[in-house]
Amino acid sequence: MTTEDLNPFHIAQRQLDDAARYLPELEPGLFEFLKQPDKVIVVEFPISTTSGGVRNFVGYRAVHNRSRGPGKGGIRFHPDVTLDEVRALASWMTWKCAVVGIPFGGAKGGVVCDPKQLSERDLAHIVRRFVSELGDNIGPYTDIPAPDVGTNARTMAMVFDTYEMMHRGQNNLGVVTGKPIHIGGSLGRDKATARGGLFVARRALERGLLDGVDDLRGLTVAIQGFGNSGGHAATLFAEDGARIVALSDSRGGVFNADGIDPAAAHEHKRATGALDGLAGTESITNQELLSLDCDVLIPAALENVITSGNAADVKARLVIELANGPTTPGADAILSGKGVVVLPDILANAGGVTVSYYEWVQNNKNEQWDEEDVNTRLERIMTRATDGVLEKQEQINGSVDALTAQRKELGRDGDPLQPVDLRTAAFIVAVERVAQVTLERGIWP
Ligand code: NAD
Repeated sequence: MTTEDLNPFHIAQRQLDDAARYLPELEPGLFEFLKQPDKVIVVEFPISTTSGGVRNFVGYRAVHNRSRGPGKGGIRFHPDVTLDEVRALASWMTWKCAVVGIPFGGAKGGVVCDPKQLSERDLAHIVRRFVSELGDNIGPYTDIPAPDVGTNARTMAMVFDTYEMMHRGQNNLGVVTGKPIHIGGSLGRDKATARGGLFVARRALERGLLDGVDDLRGLTVAIQGFGNSGGHAATLFAEDGARIVALSDSRGGVFNADGIDPAAAHEHKRATGALDGLAGTESITNQELLSLDCDVLIPAALENVITSGNAADVKARLVIELANGPTTPGADAILSGKGVVVLPDILANAGGVTVSYYEWVQNNKNEQWDEEDVNTRLERIMTRATDGVLEKQEQINGSVDALTAQRKELGRDGDPLQPVDLRTAAFIVAVERVAQVTLERGIWP
């Protein structure tokens, strides 16, 4: 059993604290501002249910920071949604948008509900009522939602439609991204999170991230979560030559050391609603999947799955975080001690928000770009962001002694700084960018 603090917002703040130690000149008051969300909204609302009763739901929206542009972040429908989870996810969005250099801030929303237990009609009522409760707190230039766990393109169509009903006579397509293609969605958005992760992995391997490995060909991969992020990752990583040895969803996992055909897995999941029972595979638990003997582990479900309680069992050499917050700080330390490299969420899964940005640009210009065009742009951004984080790690690790001395001079604690992992390097890149913009704009009034 882990005794770690698993509160996601505490974890997000701790990650920021870790990064700030390498930025001795960061004004302490500004840093405190960056640690807190700008705005948090809590709404409680009823719906009349299909069965004739009334049920009440709680929803949240947090905007963490808008220095670099409008708030941007998904809406999650899950029974375990909490305000602190939403706060954490909103702050990770701020850092993610800054790491890839797109002009958005960070936001996130969620409704405490279990979409699997709700009728289509009840879900539609929840979406519409939630959006109307948020009112003008969301908007094409203020805060722009997107899909997350438990929501999808259909949900986003309803978000758009509800907002449109309240704001007729103007182009409202940019109020939400991840929409269906025929309602202003972008080609390539559905696979963007996974494709972005692929581009990050390709670039990092090409630059020597793992000794003796230049690309994904022949690497064995285990993926936890088979939704938008994990499902597409299985297909795309297999197309790039990797061997997918394990997959899982909330009901459990499947394993075949010789490789699983992603197309067969998608078909089985579509037909039966689960991965379990896929022909030619044996059943494994989600815990077993995390400790499989494989080269690459891709958490693509929820937070806190790799903790100080199980990190020592991870046998993969590389973890690619398509989920947000899957690895706790305690686990990071253990993985780094074992030489396991983690491509962190705020870099590895930023492809989704990047193509959401392209969707927003297309909506504002009334254009539709080819999928090839979207993917080419995505590759350029993800490759550049990967280079930026790898170079920041190199730069920081080459100057830890000088930074330690500088901390002492400035009256900060003089504890010797240690070399950073890629997560801290990515946070440093992001915090520098957000802090720079905040100071250049000036603090109002
Ligand atoms: P999704 O709802 O499409 O899929 C989630 C998957 O996780 C499903 O297969 C579900 O069965 C599985 N799952 C749920 N609980 C699980 C558990 N306890 N153990 C194992 N599997 C479980 O969601 P998604 O959009 O793919 O999001 C997954 C992760 O990726 C989240 O952390 C999300 O924040 C992150 N993410 C998503 C996007 C995006 O564009 N959708 C972008 C960036 C990051």
